[in-house]
Amino acid sequence: MKKALVLIAALAAALGWAYALRSGAFAPKGKIIKRTRFMMDTLVTIQVPNELGTRRTEAAINRAFDRMAEIERKFNCLNPESPLYKFNESRAPITDPEIAAVTGKALEISRATGGAFDPTVYPLVDLWGFYTTSVSSSARTVPAPARIRAALALAGWRRITVKEGAVTASDRAVRLDLGGIAKGYSMGEAVKELKAAGAKSGLILAGGQVQVFGSAAPGVPWKVGLRNPRKDGYIASLPFDGDLGISTSGDYERFFEEGGVRYHHILDPGTGYPARGSMSVSVITADPAWADALSTALFVMGPRRAAEFARGRGLDVIIVDAAGKVFSSQAAPAGD
Ligand code: ADP
Ligand code: MG
Repeated sequence: MKKALVLIAALAAALGWAYALRSGAFAPKGKIIKRTRFMMDTLVTIQVPNELGTRRTEAAINRAFDRMAEIERKFNCLNPESPLYKFNESRAPITDPEIAAVTGKALEISRATGGAFDPTVYPLVDLWGFYTTSVSSSARTVPAPARIRAALALAGWRRITVKEGAVTASDRAVRLDLGGIAKGYSMGEAVKELKAAGAKSGLILAGGQVQVFGSAAPGVPWKVGLRNPRKDGYIASLPFDGDLGISTSGDYERFFEEGGVRYHHILDPGTGYPARGSMSVSVITADPAWADALSTALFVMGPRRAAEFARGRGLDVIIVDAAGKVFSSQAAPAGD
């Protein structure tokens, strides 16, 4: 497939419109039922066109939220009830089929991205203080280089193995954190719940990620706003229909500043420091688990390697580099 790098300005112009609500998603008013819950450290919004009647639509939305909450509890490595917590604390092998499957997927993405996505960065995330949302950003400081090296030495996705449905580790120190993929996975599961309840279309927005199925109204696509990484507002509005989603990883979600430098929550498993080179990376693809993990990985890779990766795999991405320049790789029309 032929791919071209184009400036987003051209993309937005070609689309002809660039409006979006602050929430990051736009849909025609009135005929859509919209509910919001706080979960996974963010606001999650589900929108479903009211075709089944209000009661059934609301019930469908609640089932989808409940499924996401279930996944959040199960996959939260800081929750003492989670098999991930037990695995990290006492090396109890994980036999939960769902966690084993998602771990397998995470490792597949680690391999595909040369380790840019690494679900064992836990000691680094912990050292940088990004697990504790209670710490104000002004209380955070850059860890000493020796401590970063020590935390880095504990990480390494190759130390985790998924075999015959069980997750094991090759040494005692490694810690598994599926936080970089669990949210996306939960969005895919939520879509399954909505479909099972009879919904023909819907949109789920969770922090920097949106997943849709069907269309907002007959012949009217969902419109998804792409946030400007440095100020309020949007740099583009994208029409989505069918099974499609976008995940954005940015340096603006959780960060602190020291000596005029921004330190954020996406860590480069190669250096132990926050990844440099991009302000935000968005990945547009059908599978929300892949989108979630790939946006993190491509952010880590930096704009040049990320664009190469996207081109090589026919993946649609929108990258805002460290200078604020915006690129998108877009598939050329079929047959071109
Ligand atoms: P968000 O959770 O806001 O969508 P991401 O999907 O980009 O953000 O995931 C960031 C989270 O993933 C971090 O909070 C951290 O726990 C973990 N993480 C950080 N760096 C990496 C990495 N290189 N690979 C995998 N997970 C990472
Ligand atoms: Mg993500």
